[in-house]
Amino acid sequence: MKIIDIKAYPISFKVPENSSVRLGIGLAVKRDAVLIKVMTDEGIIGWGEAHHGRCPGAIAKLIDTTIKELIIGMNPLNNLGIWEKIYKMQLSSHGMGYASTMALSGVDIALWDIKGKFFNSPIYKLLGGTSKKIPSYAGGIALGWQPPSSLAEEALSHISNGFNAIKLRVGDKITFDIDRVKKVRETIPEEIEVLVDANTNYSLKDAQKIMPFFDEYNIGWLEEPFPAMEFKSYKSAKSFSNVFLAAGENHFTRYEFARLIEDDCITYAQPDVSKAGGVTELIRIANLMSGWNISINPHTSLTAINMAVSIQILASIANSGYFEGDVTDFNPFRDDMDVSPFKLDENGFVEPLDTPGVGIDINEKFLSKYPLIEGPCYI
Ligand SMILES: [Mg+2]
Repeated sequence: MKIIDIKAYPISFKVPENSSVRLGIGLAVKRDAVLIKVMTDEGIIGWGEAHHGRCPGAIAKLIDTTIKELIIGMNPLNNLGIWEKIYKMQLSSHGMGYASTMALSGVDIALWDIKGKFFNSPIYKLLGGTSKKIPSYAGGIALGWQPPSSLAEEALSHISNGFNAIKLRVGDKITFDIDRVKKVRETIPEEIEVLVDANTNYSLKDAQKIMPFFDEYNIGWLEEPFPAMEFKSYKSAKSFSNVFLAAGENHFTRYEFARLIEDDCITYAQPDVSKAGGVTELIRIANLMSGWNISINPHTSLTAINMAVSIQILASIANSGYFEGDVTDFNPFRDDMDVSPFKLDENGFVEPLDTPGVGIDINEKFLSKYPLIEGPCYI
């Protein structure tokens, strides 16, 4: 089997004003994704999703030009060989760094979709996994900065839908963060786990001030207090309290995750399959982290493809943690594809789709409905 063509589709939608959420990286005004179609000479088509990198047109262009030229004619079942080729020719020298890693991630997901279709098997079975139940928390672009009482109400609504864990957005002025967390913790049942995400918006001083409070309020993890490349800050913050640190949605490839292990600063790893290097690399990262008892809690990107493949991976690894259940109020990229990527059961668990490959195919009607909108997605 040979790859005969590759096409990337940058897609966007505007967030309706009444559904907009503010968090540490700004106000969400638009959402983007890059879908990738890999075509083969045997007629099997694979679909993947690359993270948009806040410039989906650029990621799509990279895939449609340089990446396509590199791998056309290769056997799509050779995911390791294709990964290594893109790594050597694009990531290792001069090659647009993280943009290339995002492009590679989306292509790799499409290759695993092809592999699953070729062997008539969901991905988790090819990886030695089982259809196990995976705990899910209420995440996505939700539970953002808002008055404490409405935040507590929103939290209750997710809990009534079955979630046993929720993630609040912090990273605001720390007095506001404290008021919100207190109100939610006091409103919801004690057994519900509360996680918090600062979206890289704390200074070291902020973290020093607020982390003892998070510990006192039994917060499950503090996610991304700092920008991903500020490794020294993560290392310093570990001594500020007993609250566990989580990070990974802005770390790329096993090499950056290896640094997180060396620094011994995080307890929860959150690689995004559409950013960190695809299915092939997520499995390597998971195996690497398992030696340090660090669990994998994949960051969820935007479309049903990312969500479905994240669950496939969680079903395939020993150190699986939470699936991030996207409870974003308005997300047609989750809801408007033909198949729903996850279904929460009454106990707050999800299971992988049991259809060949990723389990999500894209039709032309969907693609034409959501053309690229240029510009920033957070302001
Ligand atoms: Mg996050």
